[in-house]
Amino acid sequence: MPDCIFCAIAGGDIPGRIVHETEHSLAFLDVNPLAPGHTLVIPKDHYARLHELPDEISADLFSTVDELVPRVEDAVDADGSNVGINNGPAAGQEVEHVHVHIVPRFEDDGGNPIHAVAGDIPDLSDDELDDIESAIAE
Ligand code: AMP
Ligand code: ZN
Repeated sequence: MPDCIFCAIAGGDIPGRIVHETEHSLAFLDVNPLAPGHTLVIPKDHYARLHELPDEISADLFSTVDELVPRVEDAVDADGSNVGINNGPAAGQEVEHVHVHIVPRFEDDGGNPIHAVAGDIPDLSDDELDDIESAIAE
């Protein structure tokens, strides 16, 4: 995809601090790390949103994340990590090439849990929850 920074890294056209590579996935350090060891894992091919990934690519991506999380944590002596995807611009996705953030966390680092990412917390009625439950399950 022209003008995609992550395609450029995957294609070797611009440098990245690459820490791991598989057939379909690439992992490299985030250029503006939120914590030491902040790593991004991407599919080598361009997909903007998570649901666009073919099964084989998705399986490779998530098994790569699974393998890398303890390696990243160990490398920076972290106590844990947040693993997440900004899926779509409304969710804060700035680079429109699927990427999984691995953000190492440390006791008392002053950060927040993933519960802190949403905006106004809704107060949903049972009827509303019933509707949402059915809509997702359909
Ligand atoms: P997001 O808001 O989820 O789209 O996050 C995009 C992430 O990509 C940010 O954390 C940026 O710091 C990171 N980023 C942008 N350009 C580069 C680059 N050339 N190399 C590594 N990370 C990058
Ligand atoms: Zn791309």
